Amino acid sequence: MQLLLVNYDTHYEIEQLSRMFFRQLTVSKHTSTPALPEKDYILIEKSETGFDISIDTDGKQDKTSVTIDPDGAKEEMQLCTAAYKLYEKVLGHGLPWGVLTGVRPVRLMRNLYKTEEKLQDVIEKFRNTYLVSDEKIQLCTDVFNLQQPVIDSGKPKDYSLYISIPFCPSRCSYCSFVSTSIKSAGHLMQGYVDNLCEEIRYTARKAEETGLNLKTIYMGGGTPTAITAPMLEQVMKTVQECFDLSKVEEYTVEAGRPDCTDIEKLQIIKKYGANRVSINPQTFSDNVLKAIGRNHSHADFLRCVEDARKVGFDSINMDLIAGLPEDTVEGFEKSLRGCIELGAENITVHTLTMKRASNLVIRNEEHHYDDVEKMIAKNSILAEHGYKPYYMYRQKSTVKNLENVGFSQSGHESLYNIYIMEEIQTIISCGAGGVSKVVGPKGELKRIYNYKYPHEYIKDFAAIIARKDEVFDTCRQFGYQKD
Ligand code: SF4
Repeated sequence: MQLLLVNYDTHYEIEQLSRMFFRQLTVSKHTSTPALPEKDYILIEKSETGFDISIDTDGKQDKTSVTIDPDGAKEEMQLCTAAYKLYEKVLGHGLPWGVLTGVRPVRLMRNLYKTEEKLQDVIEKFRNTYLVSDEKIQLCTDVFNLQQPVIDSGKPKDYSLYISIPFCPSRCSYCSFVSTSIKSAGHLMQGYVDNLCEEIRYTARKAEETGLNLKTIYMGGGTPTAITAPMLEQVMKTVQECFDLSKVEEYTVEAGRPDCTDIEKLQIIKKYGANRVSINPQTFSDNVLKAIGRNHSHADFLRCVEDARKVGFDSINMDLIAGLPEDTVEGFEKSLRGCIELGAENITVHTLTMKRASNLVIRNEEHHYDDVEKMIAKNSILAEHGYKPYYMYRQKSTVKNLENVGFSQSGHESLYNIYIMEEIQTIISCGAGGVSKVVGPKGELKRIYNYKYPHEYIKDFAAIIARKDEVFDTCRQFGYQKD
């Protein structure tokens, strides 16, 4: 499909929206009406009063015009609404999230709520302006309501610490994270861990000097349990020595892959103060696990959960992905019910995302994803078992433009997930691939990036420390200082 824009430069939103209907989209800009392709195009021409939009797809043609209301929504939003209605008419279907292309719908709801008097007015805006389906409005409202007390109790100088261990036993076919397989980069691990501990020590000292209060810790990656048990102990011991863990409300370690998580590592995680782990089956089907390049079986996952319970973890998250190659609606439901039967305190349901850096996209592995909506609809089973949605985000290139939702048993909501997703609290990141986000008292936000890959992180560690200084300089600029 070609998107032809005439006399219109501000095209980010309309491009994103069109991409949601037509995955393979090319965009070109023109100063006058171009020669039209024989088929498969959208032509958007800016006129003095608004836009003329025509479409040709699948042998069908249609067109519409919109006159911009100067007192209405943003010009591009009015264009998107008109285009959406035209696409919906020609294709015979809309999108669950309507014209919303952003990744954080709950945040949008919260921002609108600040200016509207009643939540009901915001809901009407979601329905009538953004054309969001009733089902997604309900989901968004449920998450909004559950998060509000957490957000209300936050204080400006609170922060969370993210620690990145960007190694994995092998690369999953859908992975787009900064993660290196231990087969190719195992020799970097000890040097990486030594520098990481140094960065954690430096961060702790500077945070103390700046008067910040640590609320949650999240160790992710990659897979933190991909490093050896002594290395894991080195990192966790450093954290324990540097911070007063008695004041930390939540400490999560991703023990995501059963092929590198054993009882010894789980004991280390528990011993050094973590109170929440994530053990991720992704699916309960061995065939699907094989298709996505995971080296473990479902039996390995069960063994890992049993070990975590034995060690004493009473807060376990399990990630599932809807839309994996070779999976079926029945298979997905079986995985969902399996997590419930295992008593997972959190179940996070992701929708498969076709990121450019993933092997699925690189190898151009096309699968059929028609069943994803039916899989996501199975999430209603969770409500029947007492789980409530407590955080949510969307990603670009997600199959069928659906969402990722964290569900929780009451009292087990992960605070870190709410903070990071809603960007309401400063997150200081240590390690390769980490991004620190400094949040100011008026909601200002500054991102400071660490190097992406372990080899850069090891080679130019002085730059990492300089970037940490930038993080704390920003905190001071936002007025944070020791009382
Ligand atoms: S376990 Fe996670 S980080 Fe590691 S390769 Fe798989 S998706 Fe990527």
